[in-house]
Amino acid sequence: MKAVLFHQHGGPEVLEYADFPTPEPKPGEALVRLRAAALNRMDVMVRNGWAGLKLEMPHINGADGAGEIVAINLPHPFTPLPVGEGTGVREGDHVLINPNLGCGHCEYCLAGKDNMCNEWHLLGETIRGTYAEYIALPVKQLYKLPDDFDFHQAAASALVYQTAWHSLVKRGNLQKGETVLVVGAGGGVNTASVQIAKLMGAQVVVIGSDAKKLEMAESIGADILIDRSKEENWSKSVFLATNKHGADVVVDNVGTTFMQSLRALKKGGRLLTVGNSGGPKFEIDNRYIFAKHLSIIGSTMSTMEDFREVMDLIVAGKLKPIMDKTFPLKDAALAQERLWKNENFGKITLDTE
Ligand SMILES: [Zn+2]
Repeated sequence: MKAVLFHQHGGPEVLEYADFPTPEPKPGEALVRLRAAALNRMDVMVRNGWAGLKLEMPHINGADGAGEIVAINLPHPFTPLPVGEGTGVREGDHVLINPNLGCGHCEYCLAGKDNMCNEWHLLGETIRGTYAEYIALPVKQLYKLPDDFDFHQAAASALVYQTAWHSLVKRGNLQKGETVLVVGAGGGVNTASVQIAKLMGAQVVVIGSDAKKLEMAESIGADILIDRSKEENWSKSVFLATNKHGADVVVDNVGTTFMQSLRALKKGGRLLTVGNSGGPKFEIDNRYIFAKHLSIIGSTMSTMEDFREVMDLIVAGKLKPIMDKTFPLKDAALAQERLWKNENFGKITLDTE
């Protein structure tokens, strides 16, 4: 098969469009002919590498993908498919991949919390991913799509929507009528958070620095926009924009903005975080946390159940990923550059046809 792979970490130049052996599905796995892959910033971070990251080279990027099942290797012809997500998928089905890989047998997986798995993997991070024509994965990782559902929209949804859904709805317990502040107008998790918060009946405030991205945030439902390039002290703007109440919930995946976010919260508010695009280490003033009764709630990816729940909403058209641009698979390096330079609004996908 053709794949985009790299033999060593580095810039976009290390990516090669090359031949690679088509994977063989192990017992319990399906072979998927990928039709679309979607990019995430994590792809570039993995390509660049970090201290302690050990990969089997060559590595293939990509957490997100959708395609068609071309073969299933069942452990035994009379063994039923694993209970859960993959139940009932068969050859020829169109499927979306859940990149959150739980082992299926540790205490967390058995409790349905496979995103807390003791042997947790994220597809494309430590295991070869979706920048390829084929991939073999456990059947339980596959969500059956309607035959007419767009592969690119599906691929663009899996990682960001499950992350935002689990954080806002399950961990954050978002309620109708609450005010949600989203720090950052671009980015897949942020735009998914805006849509999910609106669907849940919340009021949404978005902070951004790019006028065009703020406009787009408004077009997907954001109620109040604050331009951070004009308003450095935006926690005050949030306070004023919410009738001096502050936000019930802040979605902050920047990290270095935590102090402003803590100030923007009303008493008893929740700060939700699933990442740190501004870097992993920063200072916060603890007095805000106890004096205002604040909670800081972290999570990553989602459970199988949450994944199914939110993908059902995607398929029903109730949540819709914003699509930026599609590149041919061989141009994955150009696609990553566009993402890394923040030139996109919405998801960038690869055509793996
Ligand atoms: Zn596990």
